[in-house]
Amino acid sequence: MNETIAAIATPLSPGGIGIIRISGDDAKAIADQLFVSPSGASLSQAKGYSAHYGLLKENGEKIDECIALVFSAPKSYTGEDVVEFSLHGGVFVVKKALRAVLSTGARLAEPGEFTKRAYFNGKLTLTEAEAIMDIISAGGKQALQAANTARNGALYHKIQEITQGLTVAAAHISAFTDFPDEGLPDMDFTLFEENLRKAKEELNRLLSTFDSGVVLREGISCAIIGRPNVGKSTLMNLLSGCERSIVTDIAGTTRDVIEETVKLGEVFLRLSDTAGIRNTEDTVESIGVHRAKERLREAALILAVFDASEELTDDDREILALLADKKSVIIINKTDLPVKMDMDSVKHFKTIQISAAKGTGLEELVVAVNETTGLAALDPNAAILASERQKNCVIKANQAVTAAENEYKTGQMLDIVGFELEEAITALLELNGEKASETVVNEVFSRFCVGK
Ligand code: GDP
Repeated sequence: MNETIAAIATPLSPGGIGIIRISGDDAKAIADQLFVSPSGASLSQAKGYSAHYGLLKENGEKIDECIALVFSAPKSYTGEDVVEFSLHGGVFVVKKALRAVLSTGARLAEPGEFTKRAYFNGKLTLTEAEAIMDIISAGGKQALQAANTARNGALYHKIQEITQGLTVAAAHISAFTDFPDEGLPDMDFTLFEENLRKAKEELNRLLSTFDSGVVLREGISCAIIGRPNVGKSTLMNLLSGCERSIVTDIAGTTRDVIEETVKLGEVFLRLSDTAGIRNTEDTVESIGVHRAKERLREAALILAVFDASEELTDDDREILALLADKKSVIIINKTDLPVKMDMDSVKHFKTIQISAAKGTGLEELVVAVNETTGLAALDPNAAILASERQKNCVIKANQAVTAAENEYKTGQMLDIVGFELEEAITALLELNGEKASETVVNEVFSRFCVGK
């Protein structure tokens, strides 16, 4: 018998309603001790998927009016009997109701424990459970679409498909290694090689989705760089829609790194406005310059700003040189003024033209950032890797398939090839949660919120 658990499922701040969720064998009995229906009906007798108006009372004292939603096992989120009390969304009233539920026999749920029970009761797979947290934290349309795709089982089914291909290959091998003298027909090497090739192709495709998936979910650290006075602060203010950085005509006044997150199209840019990169005698400013260079090294995306109304300077050229091997977009600013800059010098970079002061060119910047970060190529309706855990399993599987292929090609014993294939299959079963250890499962759910 499962212990009955309870938690507040809504945020702990004033709101329209607050919800207490109770799940487990005693959910209805516990709810009945606190819930008083005007008709005298009991929740234990209620049908699943039914809603009931009543009062929540503890030792005869009213806590609040309440709607009780009743779900009967297995037709509930967790697969167990579930009762949800919807109350007025005050912090004190909701906490008081939870205390009453806990003193009536339920235990406080751990983070993610409702979803963990849903997983153990076969209501969803491990990757589908992970997708639920991504739905909750999605900050944009594309991120939500990708999370819903995973919630609907896209990654699970893709991994299952790859596992099946590898299982056929492994079965082929074991037929030969286990029964070498049974007069089996010749091994179909073409099919075997084709299975390994396909598995590697799919695993590599999945791996290629990881980085842009991270950008979609978590945003990207981004540095705006450029020599003083090219318009970095103006651009930053345009992006953030607020006067956060100091904008001034005097060169070198943005002395420190100011961090801010802004949403550009579907991407959250974790931005920093840096001091102009140039050699300077000013000590305070040189700290800023030093930090700016550091930020440039740390940032995953660089927005490098240049002034269209001036000829390229040595500082500009130094900045261009810093961009080698960096994901970057060249922003030619001040295009509202007569253009003096030689555009040929940036023709090898992804370049867009804007006027930060006039607020033009932002759409082009959205497109350029999407292309540079790989988001433009990411299909939110396809299976993508959504966590380090998933990525590590795919890397393990890929390494094992590659080892199997090499051993097979170099004429190693077939049972060594079979062993590598088993390793790959185990990694994929772990990814899908079909053979995941308790530690792995606990780690996944520990990142959930309480009440989910
Ligand atoms: P930073 O030192 O790179 O941060 O440059 P600022 O953002 O402080 O801008 C320097 C000067 O250029 C300010 O006077 C801005 O008003 C001006 N400026 C910035 N962007 C533009 C633009 O697109 N067009 C014009 N004409 N002036 C701009």
